Amino acid sequence: MSVGSGTRKLALILAAVTAISVPAAAYFAAEAFMRHKLQSYLDTTAQTVLQRIDGAVDRALVSLHDAETRNVAGCSPTDREALRVLVFESPVLKELAVHGPDGAVRCNNIGSLVQITPASTPFVTANPRVSLAVAVTRGAHGRALRVFWNPDGTILYGGIMSVGLFVPHQVIQRGNSGLGIDVELVPGGRLVSVRGAGAVEGSRQFSAVAVSGSYPIRVVATASEGAWRLEHGGIIWLAVVVGIVLAGLMAAVLLAICRRRDPMADMHRALVNGEFIPYYQPILDIDTGRIIGCEVLVRWRKPDGTIIPPGAFIGEAERSGFIFPLTLDLMRQAAAEVGSLYAARPHMKCGFNLCAAHFQDQSIVEDVINVFSGTELKLNQVLLEVTERDPLPDMELARAIIARFQDLGVRVALDDVGTGHGGMSYLLKLRVDVMKIDKLFIDAIGSERQSTAIVDSLIDLAAHLNLDVVAEGVETFDQVEALRRRGVRSAQGYVFAPPLPGSSFVQLVEAMEPAAATAWLPRKKSLRG
Ligand code: C2E
Ligand code: CA
Ligand code: CA
Repeated sequence: MSVGSGTRKLALILAAVTAISVPAAAYFAAEAFMRHKLQSYLDTTAQTVLQRIDGAVDRALVSLHDAETRNVAGCSPTDREALRVLVFESPVLKELAVHGPDGAVRCNNIGSLVQITPASTPFVTANPRVSLAVAVTRGAHGRALRVFWNPDGTILYGGIMSVGLFVPHQVIQRGNSGLGIDVELVPGGRLVSVRGAGAVEGSRQFSAVAVSGSYPIRVVATASEGAWRLEHGGIIWLAVVVGIVLAGLMAAVLLAICRRRDPMADMHRALVNGEFIPYYQPILDIDTGRIIGCEVLVRWRKPDGTIIPPGAFIGEAERSGFIFPLTLDLMRQAAAEVGSLYAARPHMKCGFNLCAAHFQDQSIVEDVINVFSGTELKLNQVLLEVTERDPLPDMELARAIIARFQDLGVRVALDDVGTGHGGMSYLLKLRVDVMKIDKLFIDAIGSERQSTAIVDSLIDLAAHLNLDVVAEGVETFDQVEALRRRGVRSAQGYVFAPPLPGSSFVQLVEAMEPAAATAWLPRKKSLRG
């Protein structure tokens, strides 16, 4: 797969965007995750504290209710003993007292009056017999929650609970996240307000509120984001590191795509730079040994001087349509390079390779006329080769194009005969002027091992259709001799010359075919016309 320059630019931009955005996204995602964790930690903490308080109040009420069922109404030794046992057995009550309807203490478990300063009025709960109040007790308990059980209006049982129980020890101890717990009675009355160490000044505060469904109690848990970040910020940096690694990988993949060579863009650039150049392979009259023409074969000469043969790029050029500008460019270069050589040797032909796509659009005729008009290479010196290897999609159109070329004096050859799709039908339908027999069959000549039946029948066929024959890929003198015996007049191949750069071809022709001599040398029939 290759990528175009537009895609390359896009990939570069994407690589840059990825390198910045992925670590940034990882940072923000980790931060959002961390805040979410902080929020859910506070939610859970507030709920946990509230459940403890609800449970403690429930237990206290069980003890108060027990006092009622034991008929503790005064302050007899039995009453006091019952109160003492109830406080002793309760995990939450610090004191239990029996009050008269006026609220005055009749008896308690201790035996002396506990100094209590009310910090809130009693609030009636969902159950009208139960009310809660905040008080400050003198002595060990400090701020306390008072719970009242009022069974019938004639007697009141009151319990005191130390609020220190309500806040789980580990919550306050938990690191230095600055966790704070506030517990209050809902209409007003602060019960607990504790702050963990480590709150970060000026940092954003997060909070969660839990409200009891049974009692007018509310718990607020707060923490400073800064403190939480100090404890848990490692995850953010871990995410950023993972983000950077990921971004690096993604950017590397994108950059690798960018660096991939784009053959089409390379070819277009090379065409503009004049890197595609024509080589010329001489075609000889094997009877006289004279050069009667050439075939133009493209070469890609890279800026470092490397010569790339057409097999490496012509397929892609044909598939992509690049072959159209390439072919015209080669024709233009050849006309400029060998035009005057040809003008002085009118009998010589110059062959160019066309591909199947060229025979799908009549405009190739105008293109050829235009490219040679005003040059020294005349249309009647031009030979166009159409290969038999690739199928021609529209035979009628191909024939019409060939006919127009022939009317202009351009000659047309069927290339690679014997190897492709067309066979006999191409020769009959296209009505070309020249048959080029592929090297594959020429190889058979001059070797004892292989049959020459195909070459013989192709030569016969050409004679019947009145076509000139060019033998391609002739490598030995035995082959030259064998072809001569069979009446073949024209050949090209390494035995004579490989494809040559323009200057070498011009030198060779000038040496072998002096311009002055060509005027009086008797012409023999070859490459008709
Ligand atoms: P082709 O048209 O059949 O060209 C003949 C090929 O045989 C050339 O290969 C030539 O260098 C090679 N050749 C010539 N004599 C001998 C020989 O004695 N022995 C051997 N082993 N090879 C010989 P080249 O130049 O590599 O071109 C390969 C093919 O690329 C051509 O085959 C033609 O199909 C295509 N091609 C070359 N130039 C063009 C072009 O300008 N346009 C198009 N459409 N195709 C081109
Ligand atoms: Ca050819
Ligand atoms: Ca050929």
